[in-house]
Order: sequence, then C-alpha cells, then structure tokens
Amino acid sequence: MNKLTPQQDQRFENKLGTIFVTNHQKELAKQHLADELKQAEDPMEDIPYFAIGNRELAQKKPAGTHATCPKCGKKHKIKYGTGKDGTESTSLGFVDCKGKSYLVVINGKEL
Ligand SMILES: [Zn+2]
Repeated sequence: MNKLTPQQDQRFENKLGTIFVTNHQKELAKQHLADELKQAEDPMEDIPYFAIGNRELAQKKPAGTHATCPKCGKKHKIKYGTGKDGTESTSLGFVDCKGKSYLVVINGKEL
C-alpha cells in the first residue's frame, strides 16, 4: 500500500480545495493517487484531474455509466468507490485501462 509524502498530501489537499468529499472518499483518492504516482513515478503536476474548482465542476456533464478514458480516448465503464457501510459512492469514479485506473468522476460529474 503506497502513501503520499507529506508534501504530496498537502498539495492534494490544496488541489482538492473546497470540493466536498467524505474523509473515506478522500482516503480512497489519496490511496489511488499514491498508487498512480508509484506506478508512473511522475510528479504531481502530471496528474491534472484534481486541478478543478467547484464552479468548473458544476459546468461538467453528469456522469453516465461509461466515461471517456483519459489514456486511450475510448469509453470505459465507470467503477465507483464503496463507502464503509458497503454502499457505492458516486463521489469518485474511476475507469480501468491497460492495467491502470484513472479518476474520471468527482461528485457525479465527468471530468
Ligand atoms: Zn482506455
């Protein structure tokens, strides 16, 4: 299980800004991000998905069952995180592509 460095954690918090997500969802996203960073060994700047404000997010279209993949441009089925009580959360959605997963949905909006 990978973890963000304190600096990456702080930058994640800054980029997430005022978007409302539960702590559990935030932890899922951090975990996901840490795994991505570990896999890609890319700096945080190469992961643009979090650089979005509430106003910008509000203008995005509601997510359907499938989302456009940031990697290959095709449509893939969206997978959602699961809350501690086992219910599926629509706050953060991901697609899998070629063995990696990518964050594509925040708060029900496709990025
Ligand atoms: Zn893809």
